[in-house]
Amino acid sequence: MATTKAVCLICSRATADKYCEYHYKSFDKLISNYASWKRALGDISWVDYLTKLLDLQETGSSIKDIIEKELNIQ
Ligand SMILES: [Zn+2]
Repeated sequence: MATTKAVCLICSRATADKYCEYHYKSFDKLISNYASWKRALGDISWVDYLTKLLDLQETGSSIKDIIEKELNIQ
């Protein structure tokens, strides 16, 4: 029986990373948005950025799932 190295922190699908392909796409979006926020707002920490996004109504629910995980990891 093959053992999987890891499962997605959100949906528990087998993955080589901390997120599956689907959630990794959202995570990737978070990271590139962080770069634009830093350009626009100057120095903002990763945690502050995630916390602000969590409060925005337009933030999608799959993104919010990831934000909650990331904040727990910190
Ligand atoms: Zn997943």
